[in-house]
Amino acid sequence: MTGFNTKLVHGEPQNDNNTGAVNVPVYNSSTYIYPSVDAKVKYDYARSGNPTRNYLEEQVAQLENGYRGFAFSSGSAAIHAVLAIFKPGDHLIIGKEIYGGTFRIINEFFKRWQIEFTAVDTQNLDEIRQAIKPNTKAVYFESFTNPLLHVTSVAGVSKVAKANNLLTIVDNTFLSPYLQRPLDLGADIVIHSATKYLSGHSDVIAGIAVAKDKDIADKIYFNQNAIGSTLSPEDSNLVRRGIQTLSVRMDRHLSNAKKIVEFLQSRPEIIKIYYPGIAGSKDHEIAAKEADGFGGIVSFELADGLDSTKFVEGTKLIQLAVSLGAVESLIELPYKMTHAELSPEEQLKAGITHQLVRLSVGIEDVNDLIDDLAQSLDRL
Ligand SMILES: *Cc1c(COP(=O)(O)O)cnc(C)c1O
Repeated sequence: MTGFNTKLVHGEPQNDNNTGAVNVPVYNSSTYIYPSVDAKVKYDYARSGNPTRNYLEEQVAQLENGYRGFAFSSGSAAIHAVLAIFKPGDHLIIGKEIYGGTFRIINEFFKRWQIEFTAVDTQNLDEIRQAIKPNTKAVYFESFTNPLLHVTSVAGVSKVAKANNLLTIVDNTFLSPYLQRPLDLGADIVIHSATKYLSGHSDVIAGIAVAKDKDIADKIYFNQNAIGSTLSPEDSNLVRRGIQTLSVRMDRHLSNAKKIVEFLQSRPEIIKIYYPGIAGSKDHEIAAKEADGFGGIVSFELADGLDSTKFVEGTKLIQLAVSLGAVESLIELPYKMTHAELSPEEQLKAGITHQLVRLSVGIEDVNDLIDDLAQSLDRL
């Protein structure tokens, strides 16, 4: 077995071209020749399978130590295809701090299909145990939450889930397989918005799901092929290319985030920092045990009375935009942008104040990022 970084650069060869091309070609063919009517062909139609997509799918399955991977046209499509393995009458336990779009799929779509959901604080395993009902089938959560970086133990949840015959489904977008491999910690399905760290360049919308065993993989494959939200060959190639540099990008995200946290700690305008790398919290304890790093997202609160809008509009190098996990640094105000769909009451309950800022730390020179944050703070 080769090491993780080698696996990032070299996926499984597809052995499907005679040109000697180092990279898997982008196959823009929707259909494939049958040598004869009865032939058993590997590829017949590109929704069902495509060599460029297949390369990516095999690679992410390897990186996550899963049985089989699937690439979708977005992270949301991956989430939809995974949740669609359940049936009317099933009950799922979900983390109460999950991605807004996931809440929307659950509330506006799956509830119509009579799937029930209970939202709990997944950091508290007793809350999970208490939410289990006879028809409960799975626990779904994000191991690092957005935007407050609360950390859930994948091993802990998986243990409770297994004891109760439930599947464990983890959205691993914030960490990527470089920093955490949920299947190794006991989960059954891993999901990614590959739009973020896996592709890493803010130039593609993509999703991934990886299943640990064949039974689950077959169900997800049925949904991928039948519902059809597959990733295009060009976009599969972009994600493939992004993955080759995942570890070098992540290393820089991590070291930059660490220095930015130290800078923020030195500034009186910042009254609270949310970053699991800071010792002294349960989040830190779990992350130190189950992840190989604390990620590249840092959230923080400006002191009352400081104009948070002016602050995020005042950075020059760091762009004001939603999304995260790319080479360039992005800043945003969750209450106005990523989490604007929540009512003011829900925002308060979730800890999303008007002073909360989320920073996706990029891979630029960290001194330039710190200078940029400093000049915007100085103008408040
Ligand atoms: C962005 C994101 C998603 C949704 O992915 P899309 O590619 O935007 O559809 C799901 N989960 C998390 C944690 C995300 O950050």
